[in-house]
Amino acid sequence: MSPDLPASLGCAAAGCSSPAVVQWRRRNASGGTDAVLACGTHAITLDAAAHVHLAACTAPDPAHLPACDCTPEPIPTTQVSEPAATQTLPTGWTVPVVKVSVPAAAPVLAAPQGPPTA
Ligand SMILES: [Zn+2]
Ligand SMILES: [Zn+2]
Repeated sequence: MSPDLPASLGCAAAGCSSPAVVQWRRRNASGGTDAVLACGTHAITLDAAAHVHLAACTAPDPAHLPACDCTPEPIPTTQVSEPAATQTLPTGWTVPVVKVSVPAAAPVLAAPQGPPTA
């Protein structure tokens, strides 16, 4: 159970008291999202429910169902990381290329050698 679910799990449509079966998220004033619940009758499409809706979205509004009257936020695309580059070793093994960061030449810490100057 998400802690941000409304206490009553009823449909958010006006005048409807059916138990909610679907949920989507709507942006709230503080920049977070609120859960919006709806029964099967007042559900928006699964596709639309996958988006975060604008704060001004009135769904579930029977006038617009199963769509809504906002343009939902785009679904963030998961960054598909490029397949790691591989190299083939002389042994025939194919292994990921390990980027070795070569540190700059270590500073010479030894004291200068030489005859002591008097
Ligand atoms: Zn309903
Ligand atoms: Zn909407």
